[in-house]
Amino acid sequence: MSEASSREADVLVIGAGIVGAACAHTLAASGLNVRVLDAGRAGATAAGMGHLVVMDDNPAELALSQHSLALWRELAPQMPAGCAFSPCGTLWLAADAAEMQAAEEKHARLAERGIDCVLLGDSALAHAEPALRPGLAGALKVTGDGIVYAPAAASWLMAQGGKRIQLEQAEVVRIEGHKVQLADGGYRTAPMILLANGIHATALCPELPIRPKKGHLLITDRYPGKVRHQLVELGYITSAHHSEGPSVAFNLQPRPTGQLLIGSSRQFGTTDPEVEAAMVAQMLQRALTYVPALAGLNAIRSWTGLRAATPDSLPLIGRHPWREGLWLAVGHEGLGVTTATGTAQLLAAQMTGATPAFDPVPYAARRFAETAQP
Ligand SMILES: Cc1cc2nc3c(=O)[nH]c(=O)nc-3n(C[C@H](O)[C@H](O)[C@H](O)COP(=O)(O)OP(=O)(O)OC[C@H]3O[C@@H](n4cnc5c(N)ncnc54)[C@H](O)[C@@H]3O)c2cc1C
Repeated sequence: MSEASSREADVLVIGAGIVGAACAHTLAASGLNVRVLDAGRAGATAAGMGHLVVMDDNPAELALSQHSLALWRELAPQMPAGCAFSPCGTLWLAADAAEMQAAEEKHARLAERGIDCVLLGDSALAHAEPALRPGLAGALKVTGDGIVYAPAAASWLMAQGGKRIQLEQAEVVRIEGHKVQLADGGYRTAPMILLANGIHATALCPELPIRPKKGHLLITDRYPGKVRHQLVELGYITSAHHSEGPSVAFNLQPRPTGQLLIGSSRQFGTTDPEVEAAMVAQMLQRALTYVPALAGLNAIRSWTGLRAATPDSLPLIGRHPWREGLWLAVGHEGLGVTTATGTAQLLAAQMTGATPAFDPVPYAARRFAETAQP
């Protein structure tokens, strides 16, 4: 392709994972012509769980995930069956009285934001999910949460852009102002460039504070009806966001196929894609303490993926602090499928000069500009 024809794009998006795809979709819907360049690497989108979940570790995470969930629910009726969207809701499981207290506090925080949720006592929980072990204290049910098959959703979002979105298989090796250099030596240019290549962002922008956080998942054979909601232990909040060492937490998703997707683990300091038997064993031990009947089911596959983690666990969304023409949608860690839609909405507003639907400041990369080296 000649450089001249590539200039027809208003935006070059680097990366066609769920974040790049959602951004391309929203930018195209805003009237921009978008060229998406993707190296064809299996990214986090193909490795993740696809749980669409409101998270409330801090107000910024809550605002982004709440807006994102609302956008996913708007898209859901148009999505084909292959996207496997299901509004199954989340049950945040409280093992004891202390965790029930945490469930009540979470309930108050979410209800204050108008998020539909209800506390379940022990017998209501046992009725909702009979496969859970007896003796749990209860749960918080977040009704509007759901699940999606993210790789299919990414392809579908891009297809919705019609002629406004062009997808090109190409690896970007360098960003130089308003142009990018490809691995084959060619160049593509556009007034705006959007970096949305997940964990590989630091290869093109080493100054970004992103590091890999490895995760394992395992999927079973088909057992329809065994579990109905996405189940997450309330201890997940501590494990997922506040620990430096390897950790596991119980997280189980009923796929529309009847399969059970079991997670999850978290490890810093490794990019080795190998499945580690010890981590899988730890993850399953944890899962068995919540759903003992898993012991009798067949697991058919386990795999790993890398989350792109920032120091404060919030993504980098918006202008690059000092590189003219470069925009960022990276660092979505373990929540990027959920937050892809809100990210896209926030970015498209900033890139087109519209008013953002919510405050973009907490996600701006300039919060790290003092520590980053130009
Ligand atoms: C085990 C695990 C479980 C998870 N569970 C959930 C969950 O339940 N819910 C949730 O919301 N999130 C979850 N996540 C997180 C979520 O999967 C990610 O945040 C999200 O997929 C990130 O999407 P992305 O588009 O930023 O990156 P990616 O999906 O990694 O996509 C990046 C794309 O960029 C391309 N690329 C890379 N470098 C270049 C280059 N130089 N030139 C051109 N293209 C390039 C790659 O080919 C790839 O297609 C999970 C993640 C993991 C690992």
